[in-house]
Amino acid sequence: MSSTQPYSFFQSVERSFDKAAKFTQWDLGILEQIKACNSVYQMRFPVKRDDGSIEVIEAYRVQHSHHKAPCKGGIRFSEEVNQDEVMALASLMTYKCAIVNVPFGGAKGGIKVNPRKYSVYELEKITRRYTSELVKKNFIGPGTDVPAPDYGTGEREMAWIVDTYASLKPGEIDAAGCVTGKPITQGGVRGRKEATGLGVFYGIREVCEMADVMAKQGLTVGVAGKTVVVQGLGNVGYHSAKFFRENGAKVIALAEYEGAIFNADGLNEEEVFQHRKATGSILNFPGATNLAKNTDALELECDILIPAALENVINGDNAERVKAKIIGEAANGPCTPEADDVFAEKGILCVPDMYLNAGGVTVSYFEWLKNLSHVRYGRMEKRFTENLNAQILNQIEEMGNKKVSEKDREFILHGPEEVDLVHSGLEETMISATREIMQIWKDNPEIPDMRTAAYVSAINKVANSYAELGIFP
Ligand code: NAD
Repeated sequence: MSSTQPYSFFQSVERSFDKAAKFTQWDLGILEQIKACNSVYQMRFPVKRDDGSIEVIEAYRVQHSHHKAPCKGGIRFSEEVNQDEVMALASLMTYKCAIVNVPFGGAKGGIKVNPRKYSVYELEKITRRYTSELVKKNFIGPGTDVPAPDYGTGEREMAWIVDTYASLKPGEIDAAGCVTGKPITQGGVRGRKEATGLGVFYGIREVCEMADVMAKQGLTVGVAGKTVVVQGLGNVGYHSAKFFRENGAKVIALAEYEGAIFNADGLNEEEVFQHRKATGSILNFPGATNLAKNTDALELECDILIPAALENVINGDNAERVKAKIIGEAANGPCTPEADDVFAEKGILCVPDMYLNAGGVTVSYFEWLKNLSHVRYGRMEKRFTENLNAQILNQIEEMGNKKVSEKDREFILHGPEEVDLVHSGLEETMISATREIMQIWKDNPEIPDMRTAAYVSAINKVANSYAELGIFP
């Protein structure tokens, strides 16, 4: 908790929860049970560094809710990791899964390391040791707790995790389902890497399609032509920027921890990524202006601001200076409760993290199902669908005495590949969740913001599931 932040991250989550609980009918005991973190596992283990020295590593796994099994949530590698942060992130996972109807309890893991300060070999040793500590305490497994990537981790770490788990559990047929976000060759699913960014895009696109909401924000309907600022060019930020740009929006600024760049004509995230790879910084990108501080990007005039780095970046200190009309919380917890109060006053629409960045866990759910079923999506129906479509099209062409163009023919005949099905499932999930939350908000005009409406949706779903289990007669 910084001196300017009156609440810790977990307290902020609890505060948002309490704000929403007032709009539900649940008994206080049920609400307390939903809020509590069920299991907190703090561990320390040694790692031998490449120079021969021994370092003690601090790490966590928190299972917030067991109302559904398994628990699900990413693993974060960051110097900022602490128990409060992991508890907050685990809670958000429970609410997120409930909102998007993914049948998991929430969990989160964290290792207190800055991955940039370790060699790949050291990171592998840390990840494998962390996994074996989880196995020892039954904190990982396809039916108990299933980690995934988060800040500072990706496919590579997930591959180490599944390999360690499988070697400690010989013969476990569903071992691949112990973690998601794996490389395709290790049981991953096509479409997972871009899932969170694509989900952010689908969610914001749906909001932008709502004529009444856009009129209230003083914006035209649709994503095309909107100006977008993205903070963080990691997995989530990169893909969010990519999908906004590909769909006609203009990404006018990008911020990384070393600085921020601006170009009113729009930036191409892949070109900036390559520039950063080559020079070590996003600064001095050809055609763009460097901003004095990386946080200046958050205060630019724009239609949509996407914070996709870390928590607490928009807070009581800078929220007043934010000029965006819509904020899409791609990161977890980027805006504090004090910022929410300012947004409500200024009429800024904040589309909340707890469902907007649910694309990752949604596609992780698809990956887990694929691992349990041991078959690639589309394998059974692709050829059948193509043959059927060809028959139907041939009949229509014969009856109408007219041939469709080659391009249309290709589109109509195309049977679904794995990535098509995954994207389609994700699109449906994000559209339904956006509509459901907006409806809750519209049905109760006392609800102050979209975050509170999202929490109401989550609380009702988790409480209903407890009630159905008969825990609260
Ligand atoms: P990542 O490590 O791939 O990328 C994060 C990027 O943010 C890095 O490039 C980092 O340098 C940059 N960054 C750090 N501090 C910054 C600052 N002050 N200003 C600008 N840039 C800064 O991580 P990610 O997976 O993209 O996760 C980002 C956020 O999204 C986290 O809050 C994470 O919890 C959340 N999230 C991730 C996923 C996922 O599938 N990866 C899913 C849901 C939510």
